[in-house]
Amino acid sequence: MKGKVYLVGAGPGDFELITLKGLKVLQKADVVVYDRLVNKKLLKELEKDCELIYVGKKANKHTMKQENINKLLADKAIEGKIVVRLKGGDPYVFGRGGEEGEFLYKKGIDFEVIPGITSAIGGLAYSGIPITHRDYASSFHVITGHLKDDSKELNWKAISNLQGTLVFLMGMSNLKKITKKLIENGKDKCTSVAVINWAANPNQKVVIGNLENIYEKVQKENIKPPALIVVGEVVKLREKLNFYEKKPLFGKNIVVTRARAQSSSLIKKINELGGNPIEFPTIKIKEIVPNNEFVEAINELRKYNYIIFTSVNGVKIFFNKLFDLGFDTRSLGHCKIVAIGPATAKSLIKWGVKADIIPEKYVGEEIYKELAKVIRTGDSVLIPRSKDARSYLVDSLKKICHVKEIKTYKTVLGNGDKKELLELLDLGKIDYITFTSSSTVKNFIDIIGKDNIVKIKDVKFISIGPITSKTIKDYGLKVYKQAKEYTIDGIIDCILKD
Ligand code: SAH
Repeated sequence: MKGKVYLVGAGPGDFELITLKGLKVLQKADVVVYDRLVNKKLLKELEKDCELIYVGKKANKHTMKQENINKLLADKAIEGKIVVRLKGGDPYVFGRGGEEGEFLYKKGIDFEVIPGITSAIGGLAYSGIPITHRDYASSFHVITGHLKDDSKELNWKAISNLQGTLVFLMGMSNLKKITKKLIENGKDKCTSVAVINWAANPNQKVVIGNLENIYEKVQKENIKPPALIVVGEVVKLREKLNFYEKKPLFGKNIVVTRARAQSSSLIKKINELGGNPIEFPTIKIKEIVPNNEFVEAINELRKYNYIIFTSVNGVKIFFNKLFDLGFDTRSLGHCKIVAIGPATAKSLIKWGVKADIIPEKYVGEEIYKELAKVIRTGDSVLIPRSKDARSYLVDSLKKICHVKEIKTYKTVLGNGDKKELLELLDLGKIDYITFTSSSTVKNFIDIIGKDNIVKIKDVKFISIGPITSKTIKDYGLKVYKQAKEYTIDGIIDCILKD
C-alpha cells in the first residue's frame, strides 16, 4: 500500500479549533509528527497504536533539523503509512510547510494540505482583537519578527507606512528593535500594541500598551515566547470583544480524576466554561469475566421484581450482557427499575428503560429509604454493581426481602501521569482537584504516593458527596467544598460559585 502525508494545521491553542477534515485524518493516522505549539489534548483523539513523534524544542535541546523532519515524513510514507504532519496554526504560515511539501513533491510522495486557523488571526480573536475593522484597519500584514540574519533585514520604511494591522510572529526576542524601527520610520509612538502570550490557551496572557512603552511592560510581566505582537488601533476593541478571558472558569486548572471512559461530561463542561481540565484518570473499569452468576441471573430475570442500578458503568455492563445472551429490554418488562441518580437514569433511557424510582439524594442510604416504603417480604431484588461497592444497601435490604447482588465489574488503578501532575503541583498550577467517588480519592493517593500528600494540602478539593468527602477527610485532608447535588453538575456548580 502507498503511504501519504497530510500537512495539517491544528489551529491556535484551543484544540477544538482544528478543522473537521484535520480531525478526520488524525483519527486514521499511523504516524503523527508534531511540534511544540500543538495542543497535546488533540493527540488524545488518536488510536492507541498510532506512533507519535515530537520534533519540537526540548528543554535545553534544539528542535529536530528541518532536513531530518523532511526525511522522516518521506521515510514513513514510503513504509506505506498515513502520516500526519501536525503544526500549530496553519502549516503554510511560517510553519515551513511549504518546504516539506516541496521535498515530498521531489520524492514523488503523495501529499495533501489541510489548512488551519493561523494564530495571526485566531489568536487575536481569542484576545478580543479583530484583525480588521471598518473604522480602524482595512488591511493586515503578517510579518516574521525573527530577524537573526541582518542581510534579510525587513523594509522598515514600507512596513511603517502601512495603514493596516501589523502582526509579528516569532518576534519576542526582537520586540525592542521592532518598536524602535517602526517609530524611527514614521509610525506614531502612541500607536496601540498588544502582546499576546499563549493565545487561545488557558494560560493566555495579554499585555496592552503602545509602541513607546510596550517593551518595558512586557519585561515587567516576564512574558516568554510564544507570543504575537499586534500593532494597530484594532487593539482598542479588546475592551469590548474579549469574550475568552471573560468565561467563568478562564485560567482555572481543574484536575479530573474519574475513569477516562466516564470523564467526558465533566471535561466538556470545564472546557465550555473556559477552564483547563487536566485529566488524571485514577480508575479503570474492568468487567469481571467469566461470571457464571451474572449469566445465571440474566437467564432467570423473571425471578426478580426489582433491579437496582447504582452507576452508569453498571448499566452499560448489564445491558451489554443481556443483549449478548440473546435477550433484549423486554425481559425487564415485569420489573420495577431503580436508579441511584439522574446520570444512571439517563443511561438507562439509552436502552429504552425509564427508571421507576430515583431517590432524592444519590447515596445507598436514600435508595434504601425509598425502597423500604414499597418493598414487601416476598419481593426479589437484583443488584448488578461494582465489586467495590459498600455493603450497606445489600445488608439492609436483606432484612426485608430476598436480595441477589452480582458483582459485575471492578475498578483498578488508572494511568494518571504522576510526573506531570507533581510538576504542575510544584509550579502551583493546580486550582482544584475533583473527586467523584471514594475510589477516585484512594487511587489518587495510591498513584501520587503518601509522601506527596504534603503537596496537595493547599489545593482545593471538590467532592461529589458525603461518602467521598469522608474518604478525603480520612486521609487527613480538607474538603474545600462538597456538591449540593451529588452529580457532575453539582461539582461544576461548586467551582462556579467559588
Ligand atoms: N504556523 C503557525 C505559526 C508558526 S511560527 C500559525 O499559523 O500560527 C511560530 C510563532 O507563531 C510563534 O513564535 C508565535 O509568534 C506565533 N504563535 C503561534 N501560536 C501561538 C499562540 N497560541 N500564542 C501566541 N503566539 C503563537
